[in-house]
Parts: sequence; structure tokens; C-alpha cells
Amino acid sequence: KEFAEISIKDIDQVANSSFPLCMHHLFGKLREDHHLKHGGRMQLGLFLKGVGLKLDDALAFWKAEFSQKVGSERFDKEYAYSIRHNYGKEGKRTDYTPYSCQKIIASTPSVGDHHGCPYRHFSEENLRAALGKMGVGGRSMDEVLDKVRNKHYQLACTLTFEAIHASSCDTGINHPNQYFSESQKILQS
Ligand code: SF4
Repeated sequence: KEFAEISIKDIDQVANSSFPLCMHHLFGKLREDHHLKHGGRMQLGLFLKGVGLKLDDALAFWKAEFSQKVGSERFDKEYAYSIRHNYGKEGKRTDYTPYSCQKIIASTPSVGDHHGCPYRHFSEENLRAALGKMGVGGRSMDEVLDKVRNKHYQLACTLTFEAIHASSCDTGINHPNQYFSESQKILQS
């Protein structure tokens, strides 16, 4: 493995520094609402698995949030299974892989869902606010929004990455986990 596995104690810090906007948004909503619907749990859960969150840590992480909303008993009964399932520990024991940008961009979130790609699924107003919180402003903001208007969502994400890290990303962003590892490469060098 190229990067150290992330642990629960570092998760807020790495979420701030190295999660792409789609995961940053889901993570923030989970912390805020102590709940995510199925699509969000899948998108964020598999991403976290991809960045190296171990199954036990994943269970503890989700339980800490969901317990505040539905209680720990209901978490154990209704939600723990699907987390173990994502890690290939239940059902067909498939080892599920994290979603690519293409898959996330093509998803169709409904009202109350927080999954999807913000560049594709947010209103311009909400996207502006979310980018501002990530530290994107001025000319970078204009350039990102210009890509979005032309439906170049992954390029918009790449420009965001470059603005935040003050470093180029020549390969472009095509996967949230790739965004994460490119970011860690820069921050750890
Ligand atoms: Fe996430 Fe990919 Fe959209 Fe970036 S382009 S926000 S990594 S889905």
C-alpha cells in the first residue's frame, strides 16, 4: 500500500484536506444529520474503504453517527450488515470497489439524497457556496464554474484540486480515490 491506512482519529483532518467535493459533502452531511440515505452510504462507505478505513473502524465510525439518530440497536440490526457487505463479509462476499467519477456523475440523486457529483448535481448557487468552503475563490471559482456550465465536471474537479493544492494535476481527476491519493502525495511530500 502506498499510503498509511487512515484511522478514525485522523478522519476529520483528512476529510478537510484530501476529500474531493462529493465526499466532503457526504462526510459533512453525515456529521450534521447523523444519517445518510442508501446512495450516500454506498458512495461514501466504499470511498472510505478505498482510502484504507478498516472494517472495524468503519463499523465504529458509522455507528457513532447513526446511533445518535436511530439508536445503536437499530444500527446493529439495520445498517451494520450493509457495511460488512461492502467489505465482502456478507452475502456473496464480493469485495466491492469504490465508485468512479463516471458512475457518480451518472447517478440520479433524489430530494434528501446527498450522493452524486456536486459539479453535476448542485445548483450553481450551492456549488459556489460549497467551493467557497473548500477555499476556492476569485478567478479559480470562475474557471471551475465555466467548466461546469460546459458540462466538464471532472475538469471542474481537477481545477478545484489544483486551486486547493496550489499544484497541477496533469492526469486529471477520474476517481474520488485517485483525488485522495494525489492529494496525500502532495501533502506528505
Ligand atoms: Fe467526486 Fe469525481 Fe465529481 Fe470530483 S468529479 S466531485 S471526484 S465524482
